[in-house]
Order: sequence, then C-alpha cells, then structure tokens
Amino acid sequence: MIKNTRISDPEVYEIVAAELNRQEHNIEMIASESTAPLEVMELSGCVFTNKTTEGYPGARFQAGSQVADRIESLAIARAKKVFGAEHANMQVYSGSSANYGVYAAILSPGDTVLSMRLDQGGHLTHGSPVNFLSKVYNFRFYGVDPQTEQIDYEMLEKLAWEYKPRLIIAGGSSYPRLIDYKLMSEIAKKAGAYLMVDMAHVAGLVAAGVIPSPVPHADFVSSSTTKTFCGPRSGLILCKAEHAKMLDKGVFPGSIGSIHLNTIAAKAFSLRYVGTPEFRAIMEQVVVNAKKLAEALARHEFRIVSGGTDNHIVLVDLRRKGITGKLFQNALEKVGITVNKNMIPFDPASPFVTSGVRIGLTSISQRGLKEAEVVEIAEIMNQVASAPEDPANLDDCKAKTEMLIARFPLYPARSFDD
Ligand SMILES: *Cc1c(COP(=O)(O)O)cnc(C)c1O
Repeated sequence: MIKNTRISDPEVYEIVAAELNRQEHNIEMIASESTAPLEVMELSGCVFTNKTTEGYPGARFQAGSQVADRIESLAIARAKKVFGAEHANMQVYSGSSANYGVYAAILSPGDTVLSMRLDQGGHLTHGSPVNFLSKVYNFRFYGVDPQTEQIDYEMLEKLAWEYKPRLIIAGGSSYPRLIDYKLMSEIAKKAGAYLMVDMAHVAGLVAAGVIPSPVPHADFVSSSTTKTFCGPRSGLILCKAEHAKMLDKGVFPGSIGSIHLNTIAAKAFSLRYVGTPEFRAIMEQVVVNAKKLAEALARHEFRIVSGGTDNHIVLVDLRRKGITGKLFQNALEKVGITVNKNMIPFDPASPFVTSGVRIGLTSISQRGLKEAEVVEIAEIMNQVASAPEDPANLDDCKAKTEMLIARFPLYPARSFDD
C-alpha cells in the first residue's frame, strides 16, 4: 500500500515497515489501540486529502465542494443510523477535538464543569491542570467509591448541587465498568446542567450493541474513532436535534478549520462496518476475553480493580505482587506484550510509577485470539511478574509470546506489498 514511498523515500518506508513488523510480532494490549481495516488505511490516504473545504454540506466557503458534500452527508447519515442519534457532526479531528467542539458550543470562560478525576479514570481533556482548558473553565471532579471502586453517584449528585455546573461529563479512559447514563442524566437535569458522555473508549462496543448506549440519555456524545471503534484517527459528536445548530457552530468555526475529508471518508466506511454481524461478533468476543483475562489474572493472585470488567479494559492493582506499574510495563514490553502503566483509584504511587497497569482486549480479539489464548497470556504475565528483572525468565516468556501471536496474523498476508 505504500509502494511509491518504498521507491522514492526508502528511509521513511523502512520506518513504517519496522512499525508494521512490531505490531505483527507483539501482543498489543494498550486499551486505546485497535487495528484499522485495510479500507480505513486506503481511505485515510485517498484523494480527498487534496480538497480544502469549510462549512457544512450545501453551505461551503469553497467552490468545487459538491462531491465533498456527498461524502460528509453519507458519514452523517450513517452515524445517525448506527448510533440512533438525532444529529451527528463528523468534522472533528479526534476525541480531544470532539470535546473541544462541545465546550466551544456550550461553555463560556469561567463556567463550571463537573467531570471524573483523571487519576480515577477521567481524561486529560476533562480538566486536567496540564491541559490549557483548565485555565479557561472551572473544572470540579467526582470520583469512585473507595470500597466498590465504581462511580460514587451519591457524591456526584451532592457535588452537582453544590457546584451547579453548566456541564457534567461522563466517561473516561480507564474505567472498566458500565456507567449509569440514565441516572447521570437525571442528576444533570435536576442540577440544570448539560450531560456530555465521552464514549471515546467504548464507541465500538456501543455501536455493536454489546453494552448500553449513552445516546438516549445524553445531550452530547463525543468520541474518538480509534480505540474500540477500530476506525481512522479521528472523532465524532452526536447530539439531540435541539442542540444541532449550536453544536455545529461550536465545531466550525468555533474550534476547527478546514475539514479532513479523507478521514471523513474512512469514518463513513467504519460507520457501515460497525453495524455488520462480523464486527458485532468481534466486540462480543472483546468483552468475553476481558472477563476471561480478569478471571485468569485473579486466579494468579493479581487484584482486579472494581473486581472485574464490563468492557474491553482490565485495570490491575499490582501491589499484592510487590511490583510497580512502571516495572511491569517495561518487563512486559521486553517479552512482546504491550500494556500501559496506569493509576489505580487512590493510588499511593506517582503517575510516573503507578501501582497498576491498564490492559485492553480489542486488538487481540480482532486478530482472533479467544479464551484459551487469553488464559495463556495471563500465565505469561504471571511468569513475568514473578521475576520481572531476570533475563532468563524474560527470554523464556518472549519465546512463548512469539509462538502464540505468530498463529494470528495482523493483516492478510501481503496486503501492504502490492
Ligand atoms: C482517548 C480519549 C480522548 C481523546 O481522544 P484522541 O482521539 O486521542 O484525541 C478523549 N476522551 C477520552 C475519554 C479518551 O479516552
């Protein structure tokens, strides 16, 4: 697929080939990752890259946009259909850009926003002090109950009464359980706040109908289109019809410039693909595999945060094993299993060290790994944790990983060669 680059710029070609090789031979378990279908790869680099357009279908600032109108309108129609949404905006560039679009649509500087704490599962764009928007809006945070490690809705309601936020945000990047969107929408309504659900991590599971959808309950639903959605590196926003005009203005001209029609074409493909039985079967397996991994790791004396999982994420507390997230992440990387260190709720360790790791099941489920292989992975993880700094142990684990993943090709053979 990158045959021209191979001839004209071997240096770049070699780097891309090395990355393909890395993905092919590693067990990728970063929860925000997935494998984009070949069609998404093609479309992300298609001739729409050459077309500049701003505005919305039928009301563009540039001539020659009639074909562009067709692809954007198709993506919008497919998004509305697959998610059962009243309105969709397909112009945002990513999950982050989707959140900025909603903020631009409904917030003024100084407005209060209530979101989930970053160290308990929230996201940088939900008011982290290191994100520039923390200087613009007044972010306040809710968290999880120390006992259940699930969202403390009673506390959330109290905080909503106390702070009277303009916006409440549900959703995060390391929360392994279902969220009660209905309850959150009731709390938001009573407090006079909008509810935005950021479903960046779970959009694929929602599209496939494998977990409950936030769409009926939220004023706005933002998302990335990577992660479980398995699409291009981009984003989308859904909303109620009554907010449609306001949202579209918040996105353009409120927060972006010309649109990326190439990724809109790729998103249009993905929005059809996520409605197919093939995709649904993969998403069902993702959840089955995640539950299996949680169970298998627990059997090896790892502590699973919140006691289990309802989605693609398993959050593991490593303290019982006497190792840190950083050490475990690095040891697993050496054996060819890619995960990321992650804060656990009320983590005594720093964000650079952490007491936990976050494990995602999307990529391996797409490659066809099932429960039996997941149990093997848990065994390798346990062996790594038993002696994470012993080279002989890691060599032995690496051989096992390589043998396991070699049976499940990333892409059909030769897809990138012709
Ligand atoms: C990943 C993520 C984002 C950002 O998405 P990008 O596409 O990486 O910009 C936003 N919100 C949540 C909850 C996420 O997990």
